[in-house]
Amino acid sequence: MVGEAIRVTGIVQGVGFRPTTWRLANASNLTGYVYNDGQGVVIHVWGDSTAINHFLAELKKNTPPLARIDHIQRAILHVDGAPDSFTIRSSESNNVQTNITPDAAVCADCLTDIFDPLGRRYRYPLTNCTHCGPRFSIVEAIPYDRANTSMKTFEQCGECLKEYTSPDNRRFHAQPNACYTCGPTVELERIDSNAQCLESLTQMDEVDGACTVLQNGGIVAVKGIGGFHLACDATNDAAVQRLRDTKQRNTKSFALMARDLAVIRRYAHITAAEETLLSSAEAPIVILSKTDQAPPGKKRAFGAKEGQRANDLIAVSDIVAPGINTLGFMLPYTPMHHLMLRRMNRPIVLTSANLSDEPQIIDNDAIKNRLNSIADYVLWHDRDIVNRTDDSIARIVGNKARLLRRSRGYAPAPIPLPPGFNNVPALLAMGGELKNTFCLIKNGQAILSQHMGDLENAAAYADYQKNLALYADLFQHCPEHIVVDAHPEYLSSKLGRQRAEDEQLDCHVVQHHHAHIAACLAENGHPLDAEPVLGVALDGLGYGEDNTLWGGEFLIADYVSAERVGTFKPIAMLGGSMVMREPWRNTYAHLMSEIGWPELKMNFEQLDLIQYFQSKPLDTFNAMLAKGTNAPLASSCGRLFDAVAAAIGICREAAAYEGQAAIELEAIVDQDTLLHEDELLAYPFAIPRLGNQLPYIEALAMWQAVLGDLILNTPKPVMAARFHKGLAKIIVTMIKKLTTVSDERVIHTVALSGGVFQNKTLFELVLSQLEQDNFNVLTHQQVPTNDGGIALGQAVIAAARIIKTDRSKPCA
Ligand SMILES: [Zn+2]
Ligand SMILES: [Zn+2]
Ligand SMILES: [Zn+2]
Repeated sequence: MVGEAIRVTGIVQGVGFRPTTWRLANASNLTGYVYNDGQGVVIHVWGDSTAINHFLAELKKNTPPLARIDHIQRAILHVDGAPDSFTIRSSESNNVQTNITPDAAVCADCLTDIFDPLGRRYRYPLTNCTHCGPRFSIVEAIPYDRANTSMKTFEQCGECLKEYTSPDNRRFHAQPNACYTCGPTVELERIDSNAQCLESLTQMDEVDGACTVLQNGGIVAVKGIGGFHLACDATNDAAVQRLRDTKQRNTKSFALMARDLAVIRRYAHITAAEETLLSSAEAPIVILSKTDQAPPGKKRAFGAKEGQRANDLIAVSDIVAPGINTLGFMLPYTPMHHLMLRRMNRPIVLTSANLSDEPQIIDNDAIKNRLNSIADYVLWHDRDIVNRTDDSIARIVGNKARLLRRSRGYAPAPIPLPPGFNNVPALLAMGGELKNTFCLIKNGQAILSQHMGDLENAAAYADYQKNLALYADLFQHCPEHIVVDAHPEYLSSKLGRQRAEDEQLDCHVVQHHHAHIAACLAENGHPLDAEPVLGVALDGLGYGEDNTLWGGEFLIADYVSAERVGTFKPIAMLGGSMVMREPWRNTYAHLMSEIGWPELKMNFEQLDLIQYFQSKPLDTFNAMLAKGTNAPLASSCGRLFDAVAAAIGICREAAAYEGQAAIELEAIVDQDTLLHEDELLAYPFAIPRLGNQLPYIEALAMWQAVLGDLILNTPKPVMAARFHKGLAKIIVTMIKKLTTVSDERVIHTVALSGGVFQNKTLFELVLSQLEQDNFNVLTHQQVPTNDGGIALGQAVIAAARIIKTDRSKPCA
């Protein structure tokens, strides 16, 4: 007989790891015990050595669904301590560092339970087990025990308690375990102050009644895992329009939910990878390409009978996602959503319950007070949501799942730090301004918060501060260093600087685009001491090292430093931040910089674009351009997209949300032109050098080609394709130039980051060309390529600098 001490690290607490260990150890005839401690799970086993090896192999194979093993360490134990059975021991140290597990979609076994008419959980909408259900969204403090969650007010009944205390039960230590007898109850309530008659809605229960309301064109506020949503029938124009009007959301697309994959398939194409992503425990919104569908209200599905109202298969309303060729779909991820959509053969809109840009509403009182003018009914329950988590958004791009918004299902799962980052002191990175997240580093891992939105919104900023306090508590995190973006006006930077000053902590300042690249390196496990890479960071705007605005940068970078080696031509932002809302301003500034008004007027006056300009107060603008007042220069790739979109006539006058012009420009790209047209017709760019010798992407030739195509009335989709192709080509040319010295490639790894790479067309063109040229290309998957990822980059840059300085200190 031998004895072994086995340490398992990763996501191993609160996910049913100990009962699995217990079951497998017993099956292998091993004795010993298992317990949680500060770093993970410790297993002591005694038995014969083949049995121990077999047991470990089984443990790796049968990891519980929500667990993730990062590392297993083994050591020999004395044989004399061997107990005569295998037991689960309670946590040994009082400093248990529980990793809080993200919320997970309902599992297949629980679904079986809620649809089993003979079972005691038949149609119980808050069913869950160790392998599924809410976690992060209900936890108030650590350790993750029922008493520290919003389930604490519900005392388990005898049957639930039996499940909860039996190691061989799927609900062993499932903190939100509940049933009809003891758990939270769900109610459908009318909030439009009209009289209530639920009997007319359903013969089943109130969850089912919500379905009838939706089928009848009503709007229902539904309590999800991380917050309330507003729901309506996605095929009902009037309902969707009412939702838009009252929510004050003009054109940005709404997310959809459908009962199952079969319903989604009628409206969107689903590849195998997309199916996996939709069906995963994380259950994000997945961006899918639309199928050609009939005009709203026109087409009745094959086989559907006249008058079969609830089951009519009609098109998703055009108002759901105007101007774009994709739909964001998710599958039901709680039993309540499954039960509600059981009879719904059409998709529903499921959008965050909030007004315009505010954070999602999470509490029952607020929903009643603030949304009674929007929703007709509310479907809610009495289990509190403690932590707000929006739906995550993902997309398959370049054959891989990539997160555009990391929240429910993903946060706050830790991200392992790359080799070389052990022994980093605790630090806190404050993130950016738009799509803000923050990042903690503790015990060799990075914990990236959930998405919180744009801090300029007062409610989002309040949420950010609340979450900072919460994470400090949940992860017992007390930072010694604070990291901020270089932009002096970001609220996150101001707050971070203030805190560093108040608490006398070291404050590290990190340049925005360097943070983008470092985030990409970190999530790819790029080692601390590896060779520098060429980072390509393309986005809207970030604060540059020369105190001007950057947004299209080529950097030779490692974790410690970044050197700007290439850029886009700086163009004036006419009216400062106004350019974000009025894309045509970018077009005008570009054309004035490249071509000038006399030539534009002389050669292109017949274009509606030039006539459009003439309706604007051009003298004022020209004066601003000449003097540089309220027209700061920016080398932004995002603004170039806006400029081209507006020139073609896409989203010219006003953009209702960030990136709208670029998104709509990509949506119309003609695939035939993209894939089959002669390369020579792709819009040409050049790479001259700035006065300071920095090579930059120059768009003069591109603009001449665009104006020429406008004269020829070239179709917009063809122009959009030529632009994407030309831009991808010049980016790759720039990369090759910057990685090559005297015909020899000196840098082999390229990291792509920044919000512009959310553009699937551009990203896939650049990626495939680089891969053809045998570059090692690092891209984002788990962390958003947009500003939602930069907190991770800030954190690792500061960590690297701290480690390197420590190393260079002489030994005491
Ligand atoms: Zn379950
Ligand atoms: Zn019960
Ligand atoms: Zn950025």
